Amino acid sequence: MHSEENPKPEIERNFHYNDKYGATIIKHMEREGKLFGTNGIRGTPNRDLTSDFALNVGRACATVFGTRTIAMGRDTRDTGDMLFSAVMSGVLSTGVDVIDLGILPTPAVQYYCKVHGLYGIVITASHNPPEFNGIKCIDRDGTELRQEDERRIEDAIHGKNWTLCPWDRVGRVSVDTRGGDLYISSVIAKVDASRIRSRRFRVAVDCGNGAAYLTTPKLLRALGCSVVELNSYPDGQFTSRQSEPKPENLADLISVMKSGNFSLGIAHDGDADRAVFIDENGNFIDGDQSLSLLISSIAGKGDTVVTPVSSSDNLEHIAQQKGFNVVRTRVGAPIVSRTIIERKAKIGGEENGGVIYGEHQYCRDGAMTVALMLNLIAESGKKISELVSSLPGFRLCRTTMKTEGRDPQKILHDLENKKLSDNIDHTDGLKIYMDGGWALVRASGTEPIIRIYGHGKSMEEAEKINRKVTGIISSLL
Ligand code: MG
Repeated sequence: MHSEENPKPEIERNFHYNDKYGATIIKHMEREGKLFGTNGIRGTPNRDLTSDFALNVGRACATVFGTRTIAMGRDTRDTGDMLFSAVMSGVLSTGVDVIDLGILPTPAVQYYCKVHGLYGIVITASHNPPEFNGIKCIDRDGTELRQEDERRIEDAIHGKNWTLCPWDRVGRVSVDTRGGDLYISSVIAKVDASRIRSRRFRVAVDCGNGAAYLTTPKLLRALGCSVVELNSYPDGQFTSRQSEPKPENLADLISVMKSGNFSLGIAHDGDADRAVFIDENGNFIDGDQSLSLLISSIAGKGDTVVTPVSSSDNLEHIAQQKGFNVVRTRVGAPIVSRTIIERKAKIGGEENGGVIYGEHQYCRDGAMTVALMLNLIAESGKKISELVSSLPGFRLCRTTMKTEGRDPQKILHDLENKKLSDNIDHTDGLKIYMDGGWALVRASGTEPIIRIYGHGKSMEEAEKINRKVTGIISSLL
């Protein structure tokens, strides 16, 4: 993952797959030959993600896919042009054609792949800071590529296992600018659009200068909303706000919501596969709460829903009343998507605003999440704050700790040896059940950090559990 002239970058020496705790963590990447993390290949362009490397990823993908045409899209990052061109050149050099979809939300590229039965490649680093970018592969059904296929691409890259085609068979590029409209119209078809339009909602949307600027404002207007847009233009440096849609990055949207008479505030991450919401009073709605609301409104008796071990127990409590089944998985959207398909589940998702609605497509789907939330508000006739306060009330308190070069696996081992509970779930990291709730401690799949979740019947209890476990981990360090 580097050119011959450059020194081996830090990130390249530090990547490795930690099987025991089921997470990809930053360690010894080169030794293990692992390039794909929980969500594609990530790195810093020209440091560890060079155009030479991207060229070879394109060649390897085209070879492993064994197809005639690959669809490609990208988010708004400034380094997207360089990486897009390099990957595309690699694909073309093997005799495979490219459909250039331009800047587009990741779920819009995924929908395009699903509809046309094409493999896809997206140049994106999702919510990461602007110095990062990434390469993400899409299967022909629109879901993220299976891990075994990612391993095949890695093997092809390491073994330079591709064949350059003769000059007269080099691939060609065609441009298709209809990907956004195709996606929007399919989202609209999955909700009661006439009922939403009849409510004439006033909404504010913060696109975060990411790919959503092309789709979400258009979707909202097509659903009859009056729309105030923030950061609704491409800025690959994310100068207005950081790309991660968390409360501290959404101060502008929150103050707009407080200043006006809006029904809903919406914010996306850089590639718009996630959507989070602000209520009519300007209060941030946790992604776990919006997931619970949408699942509660969609899943009925006998249905199955899928969510990782990291989301709150709200779902089990709602499931008891409504008669649906909750399947828990390891953390990671591709795992949730695959489990939804296997279990024929209705809906699923993560506590970070990533909702996967199987009736539309099997991936995190930002615009679909927005449309479903408007559908719920229109159908219920209630304010979003009233809907949130009707939830069972379990809350999550999430923090992170830097591993500072220490082995996260060892930290988890030492924590387990503290015998905090007789009831520990090992699905992903350590989920330690204790008085008043549980704590989940796991290594991040994309950064050298440990994620600590406290869970309780109120935010105070969740914070208390988080503090307790954080204190123990600090003493171990
Ligand atoms: Mg994302």
